[in-house]
Amino acid sequence: FESRVPGIEEAAGAFLLEGDPFICRPYGSGHINTTFRVSCRLGDGSHRHYILQQMNKNVFTKPDQLMENVVGVTTFLRKKIIEQGGDPDRETLNIIKTKAGKNYFVDSLDGYWRVYQFIEDAFSYDLVEKPDDFYQSALAFGNFQHLLADYPAATLHETIEGFHDTAARFEAFKKAAAADVMGRAAGVQEEIRFVMENEIYTHVLGDLLAKKELPLRVTHNDTKLNNVMIDKATGKGLCVIDLDTVMPGLSVNDFGDSIRFGASTALEDEQDLSKVSCSMELFEVYTKGFMEGCHGSLTEKETEMLPMGALVMTLECGMRFLADYLSGDTYFKIHREKHNLDRARTQFKLVSDMKEKWETMKEIVAKCR
Ligand code: ADP
Ligand code: MG
Ligand code: MG
Repeated sequence: FESRVPGIEEAAGAFLLEGDPFICRPYGSGHINTTFRVSCRLGDGSHRHYILQQMNKNVFTKPDQLMENVVGVTTFLRKKIIEQGGDPDRETLNIIKTKAGKNYFVDSLDGYWRVYQFIEDAFSYDLVEKPDDFYQSALAFGNFQHLLADYPAATLHETIEGFHDTAARFEAFKKAAAADVMGRAAGVQEEIRFVMENEIYTHVLGDLLAKKELPLRVTHNDTKLNNVMIDKATGKGLCVIDLDTVMPGLSVNDFGDSIRFGASTALEDEQDLSKVSCSMELFEVYTKGFMEGCHGSLTEKETEMLPMGALVMTLECGMRFLADYLSGDTYFKIHREKHNLDRARTQFKLVSDMKEKWETMKEIVAKCR
């Protein structure tokens, strides 16, 4: 074992691995969990690999519920993929049980561990290098929706309560602005006014869900590019990984969050707002991939609400950045003064830009149907 991490040897020994684990290296570039690749030597001299992960208990305070969600979804996906003639060992995560028959292991220091089959001959991108990367990611997340379209989403635990309850986020924002604990509100009146003027968008999707005009779906909630595995041989999206934030929610929110960060022409904390816009080329690339991946499993209303998902997720994110700035930067890590304010401003700039491009976004969605 190369890496001396408390509990790691105990953990590696607790799972039903094929062969003898002999090497364990930090792996990948995720920054929530601590991820290792375990190599095992088999009798015939060949190697078998696994992903061993220590779960981040600061972020995920309910690891038991979280693992129930992951088990539920991966078991369902595996069955679906087999039915459809796919390769269940590469097209979904697969949990390896512990020797005690459990889905995760708690070490003597109270660390939570799990093991996945290693998806061989695949990789993930950290950054969009070309539009096709974004397209492959869209296809994978669309297909994720498609495969899970008849999953009983309401049975999933809400592991982070109110994660995309935008109306509740708006209330929290108003509280932060009223409390003004840092005395910063006077300096950001324009931004506060922007949020207030856009209040209607904070409840439009929640209202549609309440009226059952939008269905409750399995959502991923962390639709980053590096949470999609790409097949080395074909360059195509193979599957979606990192299921820690799988929860009941709205498909248009997963879509919208991808657009929010993936179709922006600038970084999330760009200070020169003239560089910040929502690229319609990238919006089209993602919409096309997502809708193809969904294979018709989105309802009419969901399809119609895709641009709204993008707007609402961007507004919600901006509101959270601004609320955190007003509250003294207690949630999002900052690396410079007013960092969260800069972040809020890029999001609001994107919201305004999306409103200007509303008709174009609708046309693109119509074209991709
Ligand atoms: P985090 O929540 O920290 O982002 P992830 O579950 O996304 O953790 O894992 C981090 C990285 O490890 C991924 O981006 C991917 O490159 C790699 N990885 C995770 N699971 C597997 C797997 N089953 N097979 C191969 N690589 C994996
Ligand atoms: Mg990840
Ligand atoms: Mg994660």
